[in-house]
Amino acid sequence: MYKFLLSTIFLSILVLASCSSEQPNALTESDVEKFLQRVELEDKTLGPIVSSAYWIGANFITYDSQKVVADYGKRYQLLALERARQASSFDGVEVSAENRRKLNLIKSSFVMPSPLNDELAGEISAISAELDAMYGTGEHCFADDDCYDLEAFETIIDNSRDPAELLKAWEGWRNIGKPMKDMYLRMVEIGNQGANDLGYDGLTDLWFSQYDMPAEEFLDETDRVWDELKPLYDALHCHVRDELSNYYGEEIVAKTGSLPAHVLGNMWGQSWSNIYDLVYTPESSSSSSDINLTNILIEKDIDEIEMVKIAENFFISLGFEPLSDTFWERSLFIKPQDRNVVCHASAWDLNSDVNDLRIKMCIERNAEDFSVIHHELGHIFYYQAYSDLPDIFQSGANDGFHEAVGDLLTLSITPNYLQKIDMVSEEQAKQANSDPISLLMQQALDGVVSVPWTLMLDKWRAKVFTGETSPEELNNSWWELRKFYQGIEAPRDRDSDAFDPGAKYHIPGNTPYTRYYLAKILQYQFHESLCNQMGFEGPLHECSIYDNELAGEKLRAMLALGQSQEWQTALEALTGTRELSGKSMLNYYQPLKDWLDIQNAERTCGWEG
Ligand SMILES: [Zn+2]
Repeated sequence: MYKFLLSTIFLSILVLASCSSEQPNALTESDVEKFLQRVELEDKTLGPIVSSAYWIGANFITYDSQKVVADYGKRYQLLALERARQASSFDGVEVSAENRRKLNLIKSSFVMPSPLNDELAGEISAISAELDAMYGTGEHCFADDDCYDLEAFETIIDNSRDPAELLKAWEGWRNIGKPMKDMYLRMVEIGNQGANDLGYDGLTDLWFSQYDMPAEEFLDETDRVWDELKPLYDALHCHVRDELSNYYGEEIVAKTGSLPAHVLGNMWGQSWSNIYDLVYTPESSSSSSDINLTNILIEKDIDEIEMVKIAENFFISLGFEPLSDTFWERSLFIKPQDRNVVCHASAWDLNSDVNDLRIKMCIERNAEDFSVIHHELGHIFYYQAYSDLPDIFQSGANDGFHEAVGDLLTLSITPNYLQKIDMVSEEQAKQANSDPISLLMQQALDGVVSVPWTLMLDKWRAKVFTGETSPEELNNSWWELRKFYQGIEAPRDRDSDAFDPGAKYHIPGNTPYTRYYLAKILQYQFHESLCNQMGFEGPLHECSIYDNELAGEKLRAMLALGQSQEWQTALEALTGTRELSGKSMLNYYQPLKDWLDIQNAERTCGWEG
């Protein structure tokens, strides 16, 4: 079985290579049909095997597994490039709109394309695999018997309130980035050449041309929406800075300027949920007005698998099919004790024809992972919803849609929902509802805080890819952008050989990040629209789509479109509008914004960016 499929890979490359020498003039739509059929067939036979290789690579990090992944990566890239070249040869052929869309998707389906050159394909694939493994196995030792991996460092960053300890952990993890820098630059160099070979201006052009509008126009759109949301972020930043300064003292957190990155309760400062208790004191005298999901999970003895079941049940309540037996058998839920794995949570579509869908994460029993599980299952149910489409269309309307679905559900984890599923008592739900600022603050510390972060990350990459940022400026540029967008700075000057972007999974992992930005915006648009269509009256943060058939139908109708239509059409199917907008998010957080404005009345807000 294994050998048979390997030979198929080589065969397909040969077949494609020989086809591409045909005279363009002689090509007709029937040639296109034949080509598309072959692509579809290859995806069905090759796709599951390649996915399994990657699954092994991420679940068993060994010398051999990385060798296999690099080899598959290389061959799959070559195959995909051959296809893209073949698809380009049909540029002048008159074809149906559906076939044209398929051809365009084949041409642009790359993140880090190698040039059509065996040696460079091998090199870029090997670098990608090595960077990935460096991150996955990354650890830093302060002494021989004093070593920390990411999980150990995160335990400190997430929980400690000792500035010295926080600084040590924050700097410690960033040591893993240093050796990545040269490899990263080399990878970008080869990737740019690969993008050129496909007819793009470079990686930046390739990355941002995938949104059913010209790249420039799309980038303007992301800025337009950020401008809508910035006043909300600025108000939150101002309040958090003042409260952190009160707690740590002005030596550690000044009352003006940017926030130091090590005291925000998250390794990357991308979510500030862990410092909630420092920035908000519930108004009610009763200390039980907050619902502490982490404590509830522990108290109710809800284990990792049950956490996944609760998230699955939410989808089932909306009319989705339950997860398959193989999902439960083959997923990774708990960090293995005896081997290295990439713990970063992910959802996998190994073979949708036989419903082989899995998640891979090292679940911890806390509120954050409770949300992450919903997020990952969002991917899984999206895979399931479009599994009947041709393989080429089996993807999100755009990559932001895929990230938004599970996040949409987390907005529906309201006190009333938690009461419905017996996680809290009626009394607890009532108390929680009586203090909306508490609820909204908890959500904003994640949802609002992540908006500028998800925007800046690809702004950095865009400048690195085009060469606007020189190799010497890689790290400075990173911190300039973090300051500009987030008002966050490094707690101390960085070493000249520092490469802090490497300490964030998505940089060595080459995962585009704009998708998370879009998802943050879209989830509120989806939420507001579904709540309106359900006839919900009241503040948006009290609306839950749980158990609502109409909401489920609307959602499935959008998901089932996959990538077969423009993303604007999918957005319209659910919300009735074709435009991205920050207004739903502003509406959602309006009560918090009003409260923040009162708190900030006497403060000097903002920072010099
Ligand atoms: Zn995701």
